Amino acid sequence: MDKLIIAIDGPASSGKSTTAKLLAEKLGYLYIDTGAMYRAITLMALRNNIVNNQEEIIKLARNLDIELKFENGQISVFVDGVDVSEDIRSLEVSNNVSPISKIEEVRKILVEKQRLMGKNGGVVMEGRDITTVVFPNADVKIFLTATIDERAKRRVKEYHSKGIDIDFEKVVENIKERDRIDSSREVSPLKKSDDAIEIDTSYLTIDQQVNAILEKVNEVLSKRINNKAGS
Ligand code: C5P
Repeated sequence: MDKLIIAIDGPASSGKSTTAKLLAEKLGYLYIDTGAMYRAITLMALRNNIVNNQEEIIKLARNLDIELKFENGQISVFVDGVDVSEDIRSLEVSNNVSPISKIEEVRKILVEKQRLMGKNGGVVMEGRDITTVVFPNADVKIFLTATIDERAKRRVKEYHSKGIDIDFEKVVENIKERDRIDSSREVSPLKKSDDAIEIDTSYLTIDQQVNAILEKVNEVLSKRINNKAGS
């Protein structure tokens, strides 16, 4: 059976990673969280005290070995062999990641890696520019949205489940600011591509979200089978 490229974009905490992970598990595909790659560079820039030095950040992005592992429904992120899966989710990283993601050269480096990771298909890749820049010809293109209130609630719940207490308003602020920078940047801004299917996840269960995309995947796969049979 054909192995598809499924591309998912959307604003912060719109349900992309939960949906993409489950979808990948159900299909036996690879899950690629591109936000984790931008977060990994940000974490290392913070640790090296170079968040305001574009040249140094670009050098760092060129030299870092970022590895994503997807096992048993869990994504782990390694930088130069060290597990940074937890550290990249801190509010400090969230507060610094969008300005770093605006740097054109950083995006070039990561987009190239992402294209390599997905070129053979059998992937669910999520981020901000997957349907528009990384794989504009993806087999299935999805744009997820949700209200700001719902998105902040989900993020707070995620922190609480890790035993981290966090102020709701601070999370709202971070999400709004990231969306503002991500949508207004010059290079590959977050936007819905005309041919992406928009799904508002505010009032959907996770299963409903996943099933809506699965339906689309099955549609594409059946069309391929019919086309092959007819040719
Ligand atoms: O997906 P997540 O919220 O973890 O992404 C963190 C940040 O990484 C985003 O706010 C955005 O600035 C950046 N990003 C991006 N392009 C992507 C994925 C993430 O610019 N494809």
